[in-house]
Parts: sequence; C-alpha cells; structure tokens
Amino acid sequence: MNISDKYLFSADNDLENLKRVLMDKKLSGTSDIILEYETSLEKFFSSKHAIAVSSGTAAIQTALFVAEIHNGDEVIVSPTCPVMTVFPIISIGAKPIFCDTCADNFGLDISDLDKKINKKTKAVIEVPMWGYPTTVNKLKDYLKTKKITLILDLAQAHGTMLDGKYLSTFGDLSCFSTHDRKILATGEGGYILTDNNHYEIEAKSFIQFGNMDGKSFGLNFKLGALQASVGIGRIEYIQNQIDIRKKNAEYITKGIKHKKIKEFGIVEGGMPNYYSLLLQLSFEDNNRFINYLSEHGIPSDILRYNYKVLYEYPILADLKTVCKNAQVLSKRITTIPVHPGLDSDKLDYIVDQINAFV
Ligand SMILES: *Cc1c(COP(=O)(O)O)cnc(C)c1O
Repeated sequence: MNISDKYLFSADNDLENLKRVLMDKKLSGTSDIILEYETSLEKFFSSKHAIAVSSGTAAIQTALFVAEIHNGDEVIVSPTCPVMTVFPIISIGAKPIFCDTCADNFGLDISDLDKKINKKTKAVIEVPMWGYPTTVNKLKDYLKTKKITLILDLAQAHGTMLDGKYLSTFGDLSCFSTHDRKILATGEGGYILTDNNHYEIEAKSFIQFGNMDGKSFGLNFKLGALQASVGIGRIEYIQNQIDIRKKNAEYITKGIKHKKIKEFGIVEGGMPNYYSLLLQLSFEDNNRFINYLSEHGIPSDILRYNYKVLYEYPILADLKTVCKNAQVLSKRITTIPVHPGLDSDKLDYIVDQINAFV
C-alpha cells in the first residue's frame, strides 16, 4: 500500500468563491477581496492585524523588513528549521546565527540564546516544526527583557496552541505559509499576523513597492485575489482538519506496541495541530526504521527533505556553530502522515507496518 504525504483539499465553496472574484474582474492584490480575507484571518486568530502576502518566504522577508533588520545585523534561529526560514535573513543582508534548541522540543534553548545575543542581535525567529508547540511563552518573556523582536515562523503551525492560545499570540510578528502542503492552503501564499499598528502600516507599504511614494522602499509581495478568495472559504476548515488529524494521530500512537517508538514530547500546556505526527525513535540505527517505512509505502519528511541541522548543508556550512541538542533531536525523529485523506484501512496499515519492524 502507498500512503500519500500530500493532502489535496478542496472546500465545497471553492468554485463559488473563485467565481465571485472572476466576475468582479479584479484579480490583483489590490482587490477588496484581500481585505475580506485579512478580516477573516484576524477574526479566526483573534489578531489585531493580518497582512496577506504571496508566500511564507515573503512573509518572513516582510517581517524582517518591518522589524528594521539591516545589513550586518544578526538574527538568531535554530538549525532545526528549513532553509526557507533562513534564506530571507540572508537576502536582506543580515547574518543568521544558529542557537541550540531545547533537548526535547524545537524551541530555542534560552541558556544558549543568552550566550548568542550581542549588540548586533536584532531579532529572533522561532520555528515550531511539524506543528509541535514550543515554549514561546518563556521565550517571549526573556526577549522582552532584552528588547529584541520575536518573529515566529508558523508555516507548519496554523492552529497550534499553548496555554489555550494560538502561538501567534506570543510573537511580535507571526509568519504563515498557505502553500498547498500546509493546513490552510491557497496553492501559493502566506500571511503575517501582528497586534502592532506600526508594523501593519509598514508591512502593507513594503509589499506594494513602498506605496510608490518616492520615500519608502518596497517590493511586490501582494497575494492575488484568486488565492485570497479560496483562502476565505478554507479558513473555516482549519479546525476541522486539526480535529481529524488529531484523531488519526491518536489512533496511530495508541496502536504502536514498539518500545523504541513513542510520540514526540508535547510541551506543558501545548496542543499540536498534527501537521504531521512526529515520532521519537530510540533504535541504534533510526535511519533503518525510516527507510523500512519508506520501502513499505509510508513516506517521511526526514527523507523527503534530507532533514538535518542546517549547517550540514553546503550552502550554510560557513555559519556552523555546533548545536548539540539540535543534532541529537534531528536524528531521533520521523514523521507519519495523519491528514484527513487517510481512511481507516490506511491508518491500520501504518500501525501494522510500524509494529512489524524488527
Ligand atoms: C513552507 C515553509 C516555509 C516557506 O513557505 P512558502 O510559502 O513555501 O514560501 C517557511 N518556513 C517553514 C517552516 C515552512 O514549512
């Protein structure tokens, strides 16, 4: 049996929403539909402002711009995140500085962070991988004392919660992707959430050429009206998706009898969105298990993305600073698909294959 790791979703009202924009004949990012989409996002996430942008990467680049990160500044990030989080830092001329993660979650280790922060540090980006919450509450409190901006890359964490609140509540700027693979999908796209009025004004200006006022810098990172129209209809399915993913994840974890496999730890007060089910492995050779599942039709993001700490990739090797927890963590995990496209036969198949591993 082959398990797909991609859930191609369509909402009942997709065509209706697309038709409304097509009939309106205004397809660009200055259509009123964008404001409607942003208002829906603000409502869903109880955020003061949402700014729709053309991708998750554009969201991060915009966030860095409005946080006034300049050439020569340093931005601290964990090496367990994907290149997509780090390239925007490099593209604006700043330097990514790798900081270790906690031993048991993807959050930055505050004792290492304390060593990495210096006068050049202008922002910190935290990335809760596969939708598993980190202790952003503690990070937020710590950074407040240092007056450093907290940017969250929540591309994989739509709907993930901590202490009963969406993670975006804790960031100065929270960046999301709505690429096809993500829980809110518009094909390509992204958005930023912030409660800061100044950031909102600056972000809106940056994504449309600095308003072309001759004074401000900007690029074109606007989201198109067709994507926004699809997004509007799909926001209401976010919770539904999470509920099904959570149920599927519980079904699989309950079925696992293998002593060397358990679910990745969830921080106290945290609730993952189950973008993927994350397993923690304690085999002598974890890769043998991951390859075995792949040979049996159960794909892993670890193989798909050749997942490892970022400074092990040639393009980022110059930035290497050994992060011990991150190295251990990245080698003892794998992902299991739990999206709503999986029926009970497929879920049983996954459990059986996991338990049959020797
Ligand atoms: C998908 C993703 C991005 C990039 O989003 P795009 O919309 O593809 O540009 C950035 N960070 C993380 C953690 C992601 O998963």
